[in-house]
Amino acid sequence: MKKSDRGAVIAGNWKMNNDRVQTRELISGLKPLVESADCDVVICVPFTNLETALNETAGTNIKVGAQNCHFEASGAYTGEISAGMLKELGVEYVILGHSERRQYFAETNSTVNLRLKAALKENLNVIVCVGETLDERENGITSEIVSMQIKTALKDVSTEQMQNIIVAYEPVWAIGTGRTATADQAAEVCGTIRNVVSEIFDVDVSKKLTIQYGGSMNPKNCDELLSKEDVDGGLIGGASLKAKDFAAIVDSASKN
Ligand code: PEP
Repeated sequence: MKKSDRGAVIAGNWKMNNDRVQTRELISGLKPLVESADCDVVICVPFTNLETALNETAGTNIKVGAQNCHFEASGAYTGEISAGMLKELGVEYVILGHSERRQYFAETNSTVNLRLKAALKENLNVIVCVGETLDERENGITSEIVSMQIKTALKDVSTEQMQNIIVAYEPVWAIGTGRTATADQAAEVCGTIRNVVSEIFDVDVSKKLTIQYGGSMNPKNCDELLSKEDVDGGLIGGASLKAKDFAAIVDSASKN
């Protein structure tokens, strides 16, 4: 399967931004700009905005996602939200293993795997994030780090469940820094991810897998990044908070 058959997914990660009024405004600005997109469009909003976002996007081509979920279905986990709770709201996507979760909230490859399996049980589409730190890149161990993250995150996942998985390659040094991986760097690591998935499952599963790049993607650099065969879309932080910028990236993915 070629890139053109996989179809692109552009997902916005709003992080801890926007109240409900801003959520309505941003979505109403975005709707007309992306209504003829030839790719999947997802916005991952804070938990408190999920219901607002679901109401505002009802009947449109914009899908709604959360930015995390817990691995247990219910119980004494103060402050956590389960995959089933997201499903019940009508949420279709969840980001897991974002580097900010790993860095600030002690997320590990193993807890990412637990959360991922819980999300898959509820039939959510998972955007699982992997990526190396600057130190790891400079020490020449990017592919080892990313391979380990992928292997652990996908442990005990079935071939069938892989249909609900998207991998986002997000070099930590490029997130929110304005520093982007070159298109060749992004393509190289996305290619490594596809190879690792092919080793764990088979070539067919790896060719069907959507792999996004994330890390300071914006309207200026998206064409080059998205033109690469192994880069099937983007996970967009900062630029997803401006309707015009996010829509420009959606346009680029629709063309590429
Ligand atoms: C992200 O948070 O996943 C991200 C890629 O952020 P930014 O686009 O701001 O670098």
